[in-house]
Amino acid sequence: MSIKRELRSLAEGLTTLLYPRLCLNCRSVVRQSQTPQLCATCQAALAYTEQWLLPENALTDRLKGRLPLTFGAALLAFGTGTVCQQLIHALKYHHRPEIGLQLGEQLGEILVKQAVLADLQGIVPVPIHPDRRHDRGYNQAEEISKGIARVLGKPMFPEALRRKVFKGSQTRKSRFERVENTRESFAAGKGDFSDKHLLLVDDVLTTGATLDFCGNILLEHHPGVRISIATLAMAT
Ligand SMILES: [Zn+2]
Repeated sequence: MSIKRELRSLAEGLTTLLYPRLCLNCRSVVRQSQTPQLCATCQAALAYTEQWLLPENALTDRLKGRLPLTFGAALLAFGTGTVCQQLIHALKYHHRPEIGLQLGEQLGEILVKQAVLADLQGIVPVPIHPDRRHDRGYNQAEEISKGIARVLGKPMFPEALRRKVFKGSQTRKSRFERVENTRESFAAGKGDFSDKHLLLVDDVLTTGATLDFCGNILLEHHPGVRISIATLAMAT
């Protein structure tokens, strides 16, 4: 081993000692440059949905009759206490935008193999409220989209949809009012996507309301547009 290489390895060792890379789920020390930053055990515990193997799957079923889709799949299964939940939590609340980028790249590696997505013309992240973006410093859906865009080599259109500002608190409203509020909180943004094929991207799909509304706004404003969906996770 050359002196230069020995010094570099010593420096890396010291950095690890001073700033250990901890598993985002169980906090044990992660030795390799594993992405996302998980130990081997937690990495193995990540549950991949494999929805991309089937044209009709749990994600497309959840949006059936609400939004016509060319393709739809989530990367991971989201559940209480899962490693996936920890990753999404860190991405949204602990300033770890790189998790979005890294998992977005993983998702991109799967999407790039889908024949139905070969004619995709762009990637549209679901926008978040401007106040939340300001506090967080980024939109997690945009970070995921960046990872996907990097692998697919397709452009990203973060202004294709926009988020309107809420009136009053969400928590005091009834379920019906909240759904109505979600519908009204999105609007069409910039660009003409008529006859184009777009990939709509979000972090977690739960009821599907957000993606339903966002997809339908694009359908209303751009005649002939086709919509596909990719999310990091889906609540089962
Ligand atoms: Zn771990």
